[in-house]
Amino acid sequence: MPLTLADCCALDARDALAPLRHEFKLPDGVIYLDGNSLGAQPKAALMRAQQVICQEWGEGLIRSWNTAGWFALPQKLGDQLAHLIGAKPGEVVVTDSTSVNLFKLLAAALRKQQAIAPHKRVIVSERRNFPTDLYMAQGLMDQLQAHGAPAYELRLMDAPEELAHALQDDVAVLMLTHVNYQTGYMIDMAEATALAHQHGALSLWDLAHSAGAVPVDLNAAQADYAVGCTYKYLNGGPGSPAFLWVHARHQDSFGQPLSGWWSHAQPFDMEPGYLPHQGISRYLCGTQPIIALSMVACGLDIFDKTSMVALREKSLALTTLFMELVQQECAGFALTLITPTDPAKRGSQVSYIHPHGFAVVQALIARGVIPDYREPGIMRFGFTPLYTRFEEVWHATAILKDILQSGSWDQPKFHQRDVVT
Ligand SMILES: *Cc1c(COP(=O)(O)O)cnc(C)c1O
Repeated sequence: MPLTLADCCALDARDALAPLRHEFKLPDGVIYLDGNSLGAQPKAALMRAQQVICQEWGEGLIRSWNTAGWFALPQKLGDQLAHLIGAKPGEVVVTDSTSVNLFKLLAAALRKQQAIAPHKRVIVSERRNFPTDLYMAQGLMDQLQAHGAPAYELRLMDAPEELAHALQDDVAVLMLTHVNYQTGYMIDMAEATALAHQHGALSLWDLAHSAGAVPVDLNAAQADYAVGCTYKYLNGGPGSPAFLWVHARHQDSFGQPLSGWWSHAQPFDMEPGYLPHQGISRYLCGTQPIIALSMVACGLDIFDKTSMVALREKSLALTTLFMELVQQECAGFALTLITPTDPAKRGSQVSYIHPHGFAVVQALIARGVIPDYREPGIMRFGFTPLYTRFEEVWHATAILKDILQSGSWDQPKFHQRDVVT
């Protein structure tokens, strides 16, 4: 029996998470399948922004660092986020960007290894990791070498299956993104971390496509370090500060290199000498963008109304439905699925390669369906169980089919590339 629109509507009718969609401002006539890149706007954000700008900044002025709790916001938001990634209060701060946090934690991990196992000179990652992760590692390696340290090597796997082969005793840090941004492939964090530890390597996880998308348990996995975005599945707003997590066993052992005053034990003593803060606060650097940071709570508040177990169940139902519908409706249109069909191995997105993926995505956007495009040839459809409806999966597939069948994607305007794809 082929799937029908009525089947999809029936799934919406019995979806216990359906009311959460009303927490978001979503424009009419748009099917938003890009919450993996920029989360939708929580309705509460407008009121909160008004409060921060009019009262806290406008009226409170400098007093708000104390009276509005601005100074403690990175730790407070970290505590609110912690349960989504299997962290405890006091283990997470929301601060800086994912790229910068990755630099800080990779440097801390390498310093730790330098002290206990200086012969370990390899960082293992994936060739298809999000490029900024690889760029930051290369920048750090160059920096260390410029200061006279022996060279590090970045060992890149072509596929996560190569992990056992790549993890030799020369590896200092295993630096992986938990859910791959291109394919949506999810690595078994506990298994990979255990393997890394067997070889004396530390694990550093990028949770950009995991936090708020799939259940994560950093402590159960015995992971060492983690970073992630708040503007993707956590709906913190464009460029909202990222988070970082350090396992309690490592927090006080080594500093991170961006030792700004917010990481000092007593920042307002204004001492010329640096003395690191104990605990997770030593991973801060300097003054935070308070207006952007304040928006992060609006996204996290919505997660407090549900659980990652419920979200995961709906996420898998959405991605499974989409794969089935594309197979049913769009067979024969040169779409190649690159996302694992095994639910245990995928995040909350589905990706297809199409020879003209860029133009097809532009044609979809022109019809009100918003996925995104990533080189090479990848059409990425993100499913956010907080607000995506099953009915939308049906309509998105029908519009995709129409575009492929009619060839309407093949117009000059759909081949034109803007700065952001
Ligand atoms: C989105 C993403 C980033 C983004 O880093 P920024 O510093 O916020 O630009 C980093 N890593 C991965 C894996 C991502 O998916």
